[in-house]
Amino acid sequence: MKGKKNETKLLIIYTGGTIGMVHDPVTGSLVPIDFRYISQHVPELKKFGHDLYSVSFDPAIDSSNIDPAVWIRMAVIIEENYDRYDGFVILHGTDTMAYSASALSFMLENLAKPVIFTGSQLPIGLLRTDGKENLITAIEIAAAREQKRSYVPEVCIYFDNKLSRGNRTTKLSAEHFDAFSSPNYPFLAEVGLHLKYNKGYIDAQRSSRKLVVHKDFDTNVAILKLFPGINRNFVQSVLGTKGLKGLIIETFGSGNAPTYDWFIDELQKFLKKGGIILNVTQCHGGSVEMGLYETSRHLLAAGVISGRDITSEASVTKLMYLLGRYQTREEVVKGLNTSLAGEIS
Ligand code: ASP
Repeated sequence: MKGKKNETKLLIIYTGGTIGMVHDPVTGSLVPIDFRYISQHVPELKKFGHDLYSVSFDPAIDSSNIDPAVWIRMAVIIEENYDRYDGFVILHGTDTMAYSASALSFMLENLAKPVIFTGSQLPIGLLRTDGKENLITAIEIAAAREQKRSYVPEVCIYFDNKLSRGNRTTKLSAEHFDAFSSPNYPFLAEVGLHLKYNKGYIDAQRSSRKLVVHKDFDTNVAILKLFPGINRNFVQSVLGTKGLKGLIIETFGSGNAPTYDWFIDELQKFLKKGGIILNVTQCHGGSVEMGLYETSRHLLAAGVISGRDITSEASVTKLMYLLGRYQTREEVVKGLNTSLAGEIS
């Protein structure tokens, strides 16, 4: 799709997901759109005063099949087109959108242009779709500039009238249009009659250094969600996973876990072998505070790292990214304790 010659040039990257589906006139089934002809399906796009270009993944990918190789594909498209465009809109299935947005926030160092993920709960070809509004406003946000500087030079998710920092976002609903939340960080913009940017929370002071794209991930990680009654064999088998380097324990409340001797022994064995354990709360909002209760002091003493208020999605992508990028345990631990792209408070 090409537009007229305008000041703002955007690239739309269609990876897959519900948003790009229409009914095939012959079979009646939902099939992906050819994005070169997106303006036939969303004629409103022609009214924009921007040059819109698009690339599509072929075949389109349901986001449950997205993995680090696909994050790299997306990042490479941005890298190769970075100087030619003012912003990027990534159309993506909602299921793993928060993981992809988190991963890209770590990969794209010195990002100074908007990368706005969006998608929809209903296909763009259906009458009641939420896809049109999501796409149109995501484009508007990606194009918003003041004195040639982007309003939101971050990796974000735009969905159902709210713009949130990608690595702070979590999918909350498989049913409602209001599918995402940002439990520990304010929305970067809210959309009603007006598009209101929450400027104090946007990281607009991006460096003018060249974009650097990190492309190494190490997937030797696991997430262990705790539950009352968790048994030793299960914990042992997770920690005994061949090649495991980093474990996220999803704990109760403010970072609490059972104080059984066997539980802490198993964690300690893994830590002594050089493994890394990150404590992330399974609560939807709030932060890990190890030492607040007796039931987290043993984790702190053993050398478990606090994930603070990180989301589960950001924690696992950050751990894979750090293990891929750094050789030493110290560097990975330092990275976990640092806010790299605004993912922790
Ligand atoms: N399963 C789809 C996906 O995540 C759902 C969606 O597009 O929202 O790709």
